[in-house]
Amino acid sequence: MEKAETNVQDSRVDLNKISKKWQAEWENHHIFRAEEDSEKPKYYVLEMFPYPSASFLHMGHVRNYTIGDVFARFRRMQGYNVLYPMGYDSFGLPAENAAKKEGIHPRRYTENAIRKIMEYQKALGNSYDWSRVISTCEPDYYRWNQLFFLKMLERGLAYRKKAPVNWCPHCESVLANEEAEGGKCWRCGGPVVKKEMEQWFLKTTAYAQELLEGLEGLEWPEKIKKMQSDWIGRSEGVEINFKINGKNWPVFTTRLDTIFGVTFVVIAADHPKLLEICTPERRAEVQSFAEKCKRFISEEERALLEKEGVFTGAYA
Ligand SMILES: [Zn+2]
Repeated sequence: MEKAETNVQDSRVDLNKISKKWQAEWENHHIFRAEEDSEKPKYYVLEMFPYPSASFLHMGHVRNYTIGDVFARFRRMQGYNVLYPMGYDSFGLPAENAAKKEGIHPRRYTENAIRKIMEYQKALGNSYDWSRVISTCEPDYYRWNQLFFLKMLERGLAYRKKAPVNWCPHCESVLANEEAEGGKCWRCGGPVVKKEMEQWFLKTTAYAQELLEGLEGLEWPEKIKKMQSDWIGRSEGVEINFKINGKNWPVFTTRLDTIFGVTFVVIAADHPKLLEICTPERRAEVQSFAEKCKRFISEEERALLEKEGVFTGAYA
């Protein structure tokens, strides 16, 4: 009996030992390196980079990166020269907060997290070309971001504009939508308000038509394509000037054919020129209504709201 059990033990395959051995072989012989000047057809496989805001991967990562790895290996077996690099999306609030919590410098926190994640990825056997790794917080990477930004600035594609943001007066900080859910600050729990702030914008609308055309050839699920085209947000229409209090007010419409049926024109409560359009008698009421609208409203809440408004006193 004793003997038989020992035999079972002996015949067990030590997967850990085997994978360590082969992973070392792969690494030492650089077998996943993309070749330069190869005769083979090229293929580029790129996954979304993990955020090193935690020093581990979760099951979602394993699923995602296994799919990419299987595909890269499949293409190699089909004779392609596959470029399959890896990188780390390492700037941002989550990493900063994690570093604060641990009481260490964000750089050290991030470098440790990247090292740890790499270990996991190697243990998973993902076939990355480890000679081509980037980290977005390294100057030799972000200098290219800076160059692109300067090019966009030169061409008027990057500009500053005032726009409403989620603001926590207590923390004196701008919050992302996810950090202001339910109108409460995720850090202090205090109420979040909308505040006008000057910030940077990239003029993606200049490329709307090109982006939409690019979508057509993609083999993506229709649902995702619809989301993308909504986000690109191209809308065909005309701008009509309405004369109000002796001034031209351009109004955009996609339905010029209905112009003769216009009974009223609406201006958004957060429009920067709202008070210019008001008559003196209506000003106080409009102002208090606009103030009320500054309260933070989530997208879900907005969808359920009844339309509300007040008269500005102006006639077109
Ligand atoms: Zn706060």
